[in-house]
Amino acid sequence: MLDHYWEFIVSVEPVVIVKDLVKVYGDNLPAVNGISFSVEQGEIFGFLGPNGAGKSTTMRMLYGRTPITSGQVSILGLDPRHNGRRLRAALGIVPQEDNLDPDLRVLQNMLVYARYFDIPRSVALARAQEALELFHLWERRDSQVSELSGGMKRRLVIARSLINEPKLIILDEPTTGLDPQARQLVWQRLRYLASQGVTMLMTTHYMEEATQLCSRLVIMDKGKILAEDRPHVLIQQHTQPYVLEIRRDGESATLFRDVLPHDAQVEQVGDTLYVYSPYAVDHASLGLPPSVTTLSRQASLEDVFLRLTGRGLEEE
Ligand code: ADP
Repeated sequence: MLDHYWEFIVSVEPVVIVKDLVKVYGDNLPAVNGISFSVEQGEIFGFLGPNGAGKSTTMRMLYGRTPITSGQVSILGLDPRHNGRRLRAALGIVPQEDNLDPDLRVLQNMLVYARYFDIPRSVALARAQEALELFHLWERRDSQVSELSGGMKRRLVIARSLINEPKLIILDEPTTGLDPQARQLVWQRLRYLASQGVTMLMTTHYMEEATQLCSRLVIMDKGKILAEDRPHVLIQQHTQPYVLEIRRDGESATLFRDVLPHDAQVEQVGDTLYVYSPYAVDHASLGLPPSVTTLSRQASLEDVFLRLTGRGLEEE
């Protein structure tokens, strides 16, 4: 009875607890500037933000690759500052860069990686087959890594992260460089792993990826967390449901502000005017001239970022 009770206590403890995490590189402004969050088992927890927001630095601190300047971190009950090796043995890590061995074949890459965890060869072989099948790479097991496409290499890095049967996987931009079909496959597989109780932390600068995959996410910019919630809640809280994009090449779209509904919220980025309103408006209903291009759509996480920062996600 008591055993059961303790099991219950242990399983409700968040898998990741981060408080006031800071990273300063040299004399620069903080790359990560006091962020806090916690992640429950089975969540796919996302970090969405533009290049330079501090997402990768956060991930690298969590898996013990980059020294922490200050803050408290508990990952699977371990602190990366004191238990780096033990932590890395328990984690699946998908770094941003491709760190496969180009001279080895696909299956060999998996087996050599398994040695790092002291996994017996027969067990490693069974797990490698399962992971390669999951990511549609088993047929390519004898291919030289250098012969694989960029997308296949990325899938191999993700498959390889499963070799130690991790309870938590940290994925840094897992689908950057993949074509849409390969991206869908990876999303499906990551969702499958989450359904098996695997927890994931994931960075992305694709708002569609964050919307499709993440149970919760934070929006990061300039080292800080601007908002945290479920994707649809963020959209509800920070924008209006309908968006009309108004574009007119070479001429400021602000010219059309006069015709917009009075209760609409408006953002301008470059030559595009984003009109957020509680009901759908379009080209015709606003009586816009034919020379203007418009796109009418529903609000997304991109709009949440825009409303919070006044900038687009893809802008440098
Ligand atoms: P993101 O993953 O969101 O693109 P990064 O964590 O890579 O952001 O970068 C955050 C900031 O830290 C950027 O200004 C980047 O130039 C800087 N930075 C990242 N890595 C290093 C490093 N090794 N040395 C110095 N500055 C770095």
